[in-house]
Amino acid sequence: MPQFCKACGRCIEACPKGCITMGTEIEPATGFTPVILNLDECTACGLCFSACPEPYGLQPTINEFETELFDPATHFGPRTTSAPTPVEIPDQQVPLPELEPLVLKGNHASAIGALLAGCRHFFGYPITPSTEGAELMAKLLPQLDGVFVQAVSEVATINMMYGCGGAGQRSMSFTSSPGFSLMVEGLSYMIGAEVPGVVVNVMRGGPGLGNIAPEQSDIKMLCRGLGHGNTHAPVLAPSTPQEMLDLTMLAFDLTMKYRNPVVIAADGFLGQMTGRVQLPKTLVEPGIPAWAVWGDEMHRGNLISSIYLNEQDLEAHNIHINEKYERMIDSEQRADLFFCDDAEWLVVACNTPARMAKGAVEEMRKAGVKAGLFRPITLWPFPIDLLVGLLPNAKGILVVEAGTGPLEDELRIALSYADVHSPPPITNIRRFGGILPQQQEIVDSLSSLVEVKS
Ligand code: SF4
Ligand code: SF4
Repeated sequence: MPQFCKACGRCIEACPKGCITMGTEIEPATGFTPVILNLDECTACGLCFSACPEPYGLQPTINEFETELFDPATHFGPRTTSAPTPVEIPDQQVPLPELEPLVLKGNHASAIGALLAGCRHFFGYPITPSTEGAELMAKLLPQLDGVFVQAVSEVATINMMYGCGGAGQRSMSFTSSPGFSLMVEGLSYMIGAEVPGVVVNVMRGGPGLGNIAPEQSDIKMLCRGLGHGNTHAPVLAPSTPQEMLDLTMLAFDLTMKYRNPVVIAADGFLGQMTGRVQLPKTLVEPGIPAWAVWGDEMHRGNLISSIYLNEQDLEAHNIHINEKYERMIDSEQRADLFFCDDAEWLVVACNTPARMAKGAVEEMRKAGVKAGLFRPITLWPFPIDLLVGLLPNAKGILVVEAGTGPLEDELRIALSYADVHSPPPITNIRRFGGILPQQQEIVDSLSSLVEVKS
């Protein structure tokens, strides 16, 4: 069938009898020049069929039912089904017995938070300093009739999550910076197809292999580089083991609410840090969303895809996604404000550096300086609405981060979009390579700012 020949010439080389030659006539259906067969010497050895990568390239005729040209609708009419319209099988909140607080490592707290939020599917590839999270999921999921798969790579991991999310199921992965880099293509597909999934990125030093110490430079990738195309996901930044649990549970709420992946931006120190963790009063027994491609009669006719080949369709899909991002920006900004009400000197910090910043603010308050800590809990969307109200009092902003400036970039972008074009002077403390800013550095920096101003 000339319209299936791609003129690769493999059959010509394969034929021991010289029965096949390259054609010279262009096939209108493809623009290629299909081969010409002269079968006088043909011994029917079949080598040309084996060599041909196109299933119908050398067949004289094809069964129309086997081709991609076959359109079932023209033969059988529109698809009909007796299945009922898909409806949501809602989640159930199940009461938990009251327990004394546990003492947990951050990674373990996040894994327990995921299980309590109804996650029963884990896909991942071990990478320090996130591995304890996967390890605990491997122990606990089989006891909950869940699924744990150690994938061959982070690329495989995120695509398994894509499939699981398409079935309307909560899935997660623990990874660290280089692993997250490998996931971003799949995340873009998940965002395009609007499927849920939670990735905990326990950030480590970079670029490249870097080291296994804490850093925050991935904030740039998480907030501005989440794969190709028009992509965003809520990015949550815990700073205690308790928040590793609480924000992981919140991440599952958000990922199901918006049908969009959610990222936890933790850091290497926080993943390994042990702290007091109070469990919630209820856990989630997961249901099945109406849109899920699930195997029962009601849901199996659903379709999940990120392919929109028609330009108008793809533009409309992007407009729909943008409206969803706007809803996230309007409704999901979160921050923790510590001594901010009357603060003249605002420290902006998140994750583990926020702990040092909190100590520094307490120290400055004892010295009579009106310092406050503004701790973004959502890095995307940046909680600018909560910050703007604090600016009239502020004489200066100090951004403290274990990174080369992505948190400050998020702050400056958010200020710009909020039409704050003359904010108080912004200075920074930046440490990287696994070195965290220390409380004394922050106190010294704030003290020198106060001195210069007075
Ligand atoms: S089946 Fe015929 S045409 Fe094909 S390789 Fe063998 S001899 Fe050549
Ligand atoms: S028939 Fe198959 S192997 Fe031969 S040129 Fe065409 S595509 Fe290539």
